[in-house]
Amino acid sequence: MTRQRLRRHRDSSWRRLLLLGVAIAASLWLILSQLQPLKAQSVTIRSDEAIGVKPGNPEYRLKTADLSSASVSLPMPQIHPLPTPLAQWQDVTDAGDYFSEIKLTPVDYLVWSQFPVKIFVDQPKDPNESSASNQRFQKWVDAVLQAVGEWNTYLPLQVVTQREGADILILRDRPPVQASLDRETGKFNIPRARSAQTRYEFYLRQTDKAAQAILSQRLTIQLSPHQTDHYTLATARHELGHALGIWGHSPLETDIMYFSQVRYSPQISVRDINTLKRIYQQPTRVGWPLAAQTRGEE
Ligand SMILES: [Zn+2]
Repeated sequence: MTRQRLRRHRDSSWRRLLLLGVAIAASLWLILSQLQPLKAQSVTIRSDEAIGVKPGNPEYRLKTADLSSASVSLPMPQIHPLPTPLAQWQDVTDAGDYFSEIKLTPVDYLVWSQFPVKIFVDQPKDPNESSASNQRFQKWVDAVLQAVGEWNTYLPLQVVTQREGADILILRDRPPVQASLDRETGKFNIPRARSAQTRYEFYLRQTDKAAQAILSQRLTIQLSPHQTDHYTLATARHELGHALGIWGHSPLETDIMYFSQVRYSPQISVRDINTLKRIYQQPTRVGWPLAAQTRGEE
């Protein structure tokens, strides 16, 4: 090889290397950009088929389909009075909110209107037993109760010992891993295990005060037993945010409702509460009596 040819050869190798670099960068970007929604999905709230069973009447099932086709007479959307702590909440720092990220459920915003909201937290079967697994369970309970205590500043909450009649259940369960079929490849996508999941269901609640049954929500949080106490607390904070009405995610990682788990877990932020307050100022169908009785019940 002459020196010139060698140089040309070297030039083309460099060009090839450069091209290869660009190609790698492009595919990396493609992978990363696709990772983003995937990552979000792994902690995204589920819009489950919401099925509510009226207590004491297992035949009466309220399905999402019923709700959207209005085969039951749903209450008209109305605004509930703000609970006192939210009414008193003033943001002087003008931190803004992420209200635009909040998704509507089939009955609009998931606002609570009966306070205190009753929360059941899973308990070890035999609390007096001092085994290592029981101690781990107790630490899980402590972390969850701390998160409940933090939210209690903004919405009146009450921890109850009975599962029945609770508005929010916090269970020490590993959330199910949902595989989905990729139609193009014919392969199953198995997402990484979730650490938590929150889902809602609706039911009709009879009260002494109202003649008509009240359209009500019940939330179930499944929170993994396999996290450090630090992450259990952070996850409980986040999932409780969903259960209390923040049905969406913040784009900022300084908010607890950021869509992904971060190493540094923030405290409930001003923006979180600004968002919560705006949600509670919206009209919703939940928490109001049905417009007319659909069944001839006394
Ligand atoms: Zn979430």
